[in-house]
Amino acid sequence: VHPPVSVPHAFRDAVARVPERTALAYFDGRIGYREADELSDAVAAYLAARGLAKGDRLALMLQNTPHFVIALLGAWKAGAVVVPLNPMYKAYEVGHILADAGVTAVVCSDRAWAGFLRETAADLPVQIVLTACERDLQTRDDRRVLDFERLPQAEDAADLLTVARAGGVAPAGREFAPDDIALIGYTSGTSGRPKGATVTHRNICHNAERQRAGHELPDGATIFALAPLFHITGMVCQLAASIVGGGTLALAYRFESGVVLDAFLEHRPAYTVGPATAFMALGAHPDVSPGHFASFAVISTGGAPMPPALVDGIEQRFGHYILNGYGLTECAAPCAAVPPGRRAPVDPESGTLAVGVPDPASVVRILDEDGAEVPFRTTGEIAVRGPQVVPGYWGLPAATAEGLPDGELRTGDIGFMDEDGWLYVVDRKKDMINAAGFKVWPREVEDVLYTHGAVREAAVVGVPDSYRGETVKAYVSLRPGSSVEPAELAGYCKDRLAAYKYPREVEILPELPKTATGKILRRELRSRT
Ligand code: ATP
Repeated sequence: VHPPVSVPHAFRDAVARVPERTALAYFDGRIGYREADELSDAVAAYLAARGLAKGDRLALMLQNTPHFVIALLGAWKAGAVVVPLNPMYKAYEVGHILADAGVTAVVCSDRAWAGFLRETAADLPVQIVLTACERDLQTRDDRRVLDFERLPQAEDAADLLTVARAGGVAPAGREFAPDDIALIGYTSGTSGRPKGATVTHRNICHNAERQRAGHELPDGATIFALAPLFHITGMVCQLAASIVGGGTLALAYRFESGVVLDAFLEHRPAYTVGPATAFMALGAHPDVSPGHFASFAVISTGGAPMPPALVDGIEQRFGHYILNGYGLTECAAPCAAVPPGRRAPVDPESGTLAVGVPDPASVVRILDEDGAEVPFRTTGEIAVRGPQVVPGYWGLPAATAEGLPDGELRTGDIGFMDEDGWLYVVDRKKDMINAAGFKVWPREVEDVLYTHGAVREAAVVGVPDSYRGETVKAYVSLRPGSSVEPAELAGYCKDRLAAYKYPREVEILPELPKTATGKILRRELRSRT
């Protein structure tokens, strides 16, 4: 693997090599490498002229659109550290991230969101808000017209399209070294609010090159962005892998099975990666046929447990064996994957499909409670060291020392290794809930519940769900004399948290089970369900 120095560096290489090749495909819109270079140069010039300096943080709050990529490249050309935000986030979530990362510029999709962001960031040093289009792209037809050619021109000067069309030259002297931070990925909130993993250009480039080389994708291959680009998997395994290979990134706003199946036929992608639920939804679509999958050379999955029966079902129906992969934000997406041409074994005891073999450039160890390595087939915490492992958490030296002692990532996942080098993930040490690949940290939901006047105690757990794998359930006890309906508490969380985080079920108990020292016994609550 010979990863490039940085993603913008890889992009410039691709522009020099294949200027006329399509870089971005969106419905019937196409943007070539040279054009993407010019558009992102103009965005970089605008940001620099407005005072964005090297290392300043810029947040992106966009779905999978060409604008995401142009804004990202422009931000990187201006030397920014990018902070991707899930557009589903509410003020409570966005406010924390903007403040924690010290964000000074935001690019978001429409004017309503810009208003929301300006309000959320009223007390923060956010100087620049750029919008990518005039309105949210609600309907399929709205989305179809969203290419840089035909987008309605906004009068607002701070409109990404206007900025990009105005032209300009990216500022000089903003190049990145491999160990510079490329983005801050917000994750894990075990010990409080979400913390930002500082993902470097080396981390991204290593994994992007591994996707391309490891999956034997030909130069110029089309990659379909099934996973959201604001997630690390989408960013690295789709967007960066496409740039590194000088290929085409095909986008379709956000996941919707019918739209995605049409896009498979329209763009003929060679590769994509998505969570298990995406493949369940595609497989359940009434119009799906093997033809939809005919163009793929490789399909992979990651981010959530993959049921072996789903892999078998997809293979029987569509002729594609889906390659499992394992990773987390702290290792810029994958650190283990099923190599092409091989089949992941299933552990007979737990029925778990192996997640892959560790990246050859990395060392994966299984550790016991004392941090000592355990023998084959003994479970313990998965620890990773390698070129994709992040150096730490933004502004949190203590969390960095705890989560990455001596630079080795303690993943919080429980698994084991077999004699043939296959890695299995069987459980979690951390409290995280994995709802269809979307990660929910109980502490964040509990914090919101505790702000409700009637709540005395709150504990949030994941409960089994046949589609999502897990969903969120809250147990609460009430203050003496208070009364509230479970549905009201669920609604209270829904108003403050992204839709995938609020508890689908709330159960009120007279008292929550606790240890002798008064700690709520989350495991006991989990086993009640
Ligand atoms: P994305 O959210 O972009 O999919 P990600 O899932 O790789 O990224 P995180 O959101 O940090 O990254 O979540 C990582 C966690 O997801 C892991 O710690 C693990 O618990 C779970 N996970 C990832 N891949 C798998 C897999 N193949 N099988 C089971 N669990 C997985």
